[in-house]
Amino acid sequence: MIITVFDWDDTLMATTHVQTTGDTSYFNLLSESIRSCIDIAKKHGQVYIITNGQKEWFNLCLNFLPDCKDLLDEVIFISTVDNKFDYKTPLKEWKYKAFKRLIPFFSKRDKNNQIIAFGDAAHDRAAALHVKDILKGKVGYLNTFVKHIKLIESADFDSILKQQKIIRDIFYHLVDIKEDVDLSFQVEVVRSLEQGERINHLKNLLKEKVFIHNE
Ligand SMILES: [Mg+2]
Repeated sequence: MIITVFDWDDTLMATTHVQTTGDTSYFNLLSESIRSCIDIAKKHGQVYIITNGQKEWFNLCLNFLPDCKDLLDEVIFISTVDNKFDYKTPLKEWKYKAFKRLIPFFSKRDKNNQIIAFGDAAHDRAAALHVKDILKGKVGYLNTFVKHIKLIESADFDSILKQQKIIRDIFYHLVDIKEDVDLSFQVEVVRSLEQGERINHLKNLLKEKVFIHNE
């Protein structure tokens, strides 16, 4: 089983850009881009959107994204806020609790178990790594791989679109890798390289198992 997890704000949705500029003129472009990311992930299995935002906000966004109107019927949406996770628990652990819910879906008999996760915040990555550690500690889950791609935090609109293009271009490659992946997109890589060069660069990073981090 392959489960793909997308964060919503500043991963799929250009939240910071919209909130700081009020600019919605590129929503059609963004809408198509999000649609394509979901479609590629859906070809491989179940898609989750796990967010620390509210469902109300998610629904409001969908009103402005014409290609994504039916997204709630196609993905499993989990809002950590709406799930009323213990408010004494630090915000960064809410995602972890949500990610943990994915573990029972994996069968030990399945030889191709994967969580492929994309998120822009450090707590997105931390949640994926926590779940990876839990799975590695369980008998029979040795072949379950957790692949996390950390995106640029609170990226501008242009970078969000570029990152989503990269996600689509490397997705099949990512699925084929038979080990855990922990890769961070760097601002300069995403912004400066020409498209073809950028994709080849990232494919090489994945192939060579060179993991880069912003932190
Ligand atoms: Mg985010």
